[in-house]
Amino acid sequence: MSLGFPSGAWSANVEQAWPRALAVPGGVVRLDLGPAAERPLAMAGDVPLMVLGDPIVWTALVGIPLSAQPGQASIQVHAGGSPRTVTYSIEPKRYSEQQLKVSPRTVDLSPEDLRRHERERAHQAKVIATFSEPSPSTFQMQVPTPGRRSSSFGLRRVFNGQPRNPHSGMDIAAPTGTPVVSPLPAKVIDTGDYFFNGDTIWLDHGGGLLSMMCHLSRIDVKPGDTVATGQRIGAVGATGRVTGPHLHWSVSLNRAMVDPALFLD
Ligand code: ZN
Repeated sequence: MSLGFPSGAWSANVEQAWPRALAVPGGVVRLDLGPAAERPLAMAGDVPLMVLGDPIVWTALVGIPLSAQPGQASIQVHAGGSPRTVTYSIEPKRYSEQQLKVSPRTVDLSPEDLRRHERERAHQAKVIATFSEPSPSTFQMQVPTPGRRSSSFGLRRVFNGQPRNPHSGMDIAAPTGTPVVSPLPAKVIDTGDYFFNGDTIWLDHGGGLLSMMCHLSRIDVKPGDTVATGQRIGAVGATGRVTGPHLHWSVSLNRAMVDPALFLD
């Protein structure tokens, strides 16, 4: 095995700290892959999945995209021999809808803003595809900033009458300048000032699990830095498309934005 830590201690720790399983769009499922001498490779299409465990039993931890259709879904597992398919079922979940009135400039983008947004979207697609080893040794995350947490994950938003992507993170209301900390050990993989997200930090927790912190007033880290759980990385702000200061925190697993609340107590 090449997990980089004692497997006995690791299994004991992780067993207590899995994210809450919820087989809905925007949720996370644990799929039993059975025993194998070597850690199997698991894929959802061409996206690698996190696989944890030991030769007795391996488990794939799979993030379900908000855009997933309810019904049967599957992953491909390669463990020696020929690949096999593991199926699971996605339950329907109806997220609520919110009508928002915002400055027309941020809905009907100018050609210049549209070009900028498209560049940024292509860049973000590369960042979110990050998959590094090892996988996290715990999934019990620390809340990145104190404040009132919204339960708006998955909210279907309509800006000035035009449907937009659903809200794919958790908003935490806090005054500008409130420290933002890392929810798990991480490597900083991207920082920047983006049109919608404002000043943003991407953190890589390993195994395809990432955090994105948006609308910051300060960024105190740079790509390549490693940070510990609870270590300050920046401060709450109101940069990008926002109506007031708050932290937007997204958690991505295998490129799917999943509900950060599943990783909290
Ligand atoms: Zn948000």
